[in-house]
Amino acid sequence: MAVVRLTTCYDHFESHRIVDVLESEGIQCFVTNENFTTLLPIYNGMLGSGIQVMIDETDLEKAQVLLEEIQPKENLVCPYCESKNIAFGLGVERNIKIAQIVTSLITLVPMGRNTFTYYCKDCKKDFKI
Ligand SMILES: [Zn+2]
Repeated sequence: MAVVRLTTCYDHFESHRIVDVLESEGIQCFVTNENFTTLLPIYNGMLGSGIQVMIDETDLEKAQVLLEEIQPKENLVCPYCESKNIAFGLGVERNIKIAQIVTSLITLVPMGRNTFTYYCKDCKKDFKI
């Protein structure tokens, strides 16, 4: 039995929703890194952070099918220009947010919460689903 990472989530609501679906289908799983991600959300997506949903390697194929049903990201469409060229990350102000994070790390001054969002690569706008 080998344990593998199924996905990485950016908040505990998303991770527990996935865990609930997996467990209802009989797939044993657990989450890691939940405390770090919840206590220091500004570092989400950096240094391997994020809540990781872990499963047995033998359940990986079945779990990936379920995950596609839970998170149908390929069907996302920009609400402004209807483009399908969508990404998930720090958003269109990515460089400013990264500069804030680096400054925070150097000066040890806490910064505001940076949240991940969907953004359109064509019209350069952030949006939530
Ligand atoms: Zn757009």
